[in-house]
Amino acid sequence: MRAVVYLGPERLEIHQVPIPTLRPDEVLVKVRSATTCGTDVKTYLRGHPKYPPPFLFGHEFAGDVVEVGELVDNFVPGMRVTASCFGPCGACYPCKHRQENLCVNMIHNFAAYAEYVRLPGTFVRWNTLVIPEHMSYPQAALLEPLSSVVHSHKLVQVQPGEIVAILGGGGAVGLMHLQLARVAGAAQVIVVDKNPLRLEYARQLGAVTIDASLGDPLPAIQDLSEGRGADVVIESAGAKQTWEAAPVIARRGGRVLWFGGLAGGAKIELDAATIHYGEIILYNTHGNAPADFWEACNLVSSGLIDTQLLLSGEMALGQTEEALKRMIAGEAMKVSINPELSDE
Ligand SMILES: [Zn+2]
Ligand SMILES: [Zn+2]
Repeated sequence: MRAVVYLGPERLEIHQVPIPTLRPDEVLVKVRSATTCGTDVKTYLRGHPKYPPPFLFGHEFAGDVVEVGELVDNFVPGMRVTASCFGPCGACYPCKHRQENLCVNMIHNFAAYAEYVRLPGTFVRWNTLVIPEHMSYPQAALLEPLSSVVHSHKLVQVQPGEIVAILGGGGAVGLMHLQLARVAGAAQVIVVDKNPLRLEYARQLGAVTIDASLGDPLPAIQDLSEGRGADVVIESAGAKQTWEAAPVIARRGGRVLWFGGLAGGAKIELDAATIHYGEIILYNTHGNAPADFWEACNLVSSGLIDTQLLLSGEMALGQTEEALKRMIAGEAMKVSINPELSDE
């Protein structure tokens, strides 16, 4: 089969690799859509902190079950499915405490930009779901990132009537935060971003926008909140500057959610007095647990989360690098890679 292989920063190639063979508890899926992701962009540009190249690439996908191992009884060929990229063990301390996203034996599935993907047993048991008939494959591929956003909102718990500011809020994940905050009843969602296309999409989804390329967004956020600052500040850019800005933008007694990860070894500097005397509550979040995945599916299936603006068309497997470059240039949100399309 054809698969995208990551060879190092800014080096992707299509290789012929064997179709994976299954162990008795595994499932083989024919990929119908694999969506590009900000994490892929980061890996493409600077490598992955945990995985040395070469490796197969891509982690958000949906497709059809084509083969199941002899011990699998919950999936049969022909089912339309998607799976998280996290495979928790189900047996460790965090797993037993309903914190499967923090599993100490977690395995990851990074091989979605390919014609077929193998789901290891832990994914089959925990983190694979059959998608509703009316949900498209690209929509289903978005459930993986959406479930991480859902997970983070269970921590920060936006309350009805609150003002939420999202830093780096115009990317696909930022637009998911924006929509979830509105579903939770936020009175106002303020999106701060630099990219005109992203700001336009945020406005279409009901946000008030601030163009960060014009300077410090703090005065505008204070103007919009009667001088207090936002009740909730969500950092969705994955940048040191916005991590440090978030507690300053929050009101006294407000909450900060650091969602966007920083590079390994990154350090941040915070003013202890601002946080201490302002009783700023700081939330961190990582990945998603099986329950979040199911709830993400319900949110898209019911239409509460609109996926239309999050997807910028379809491209072929051989155009994966081009798709990532379109994201880097700020011309695309997520691109659906369809292995059935010809590269021509
Ligand atoms: Zn992703
Ligand atoms: Zn575990």
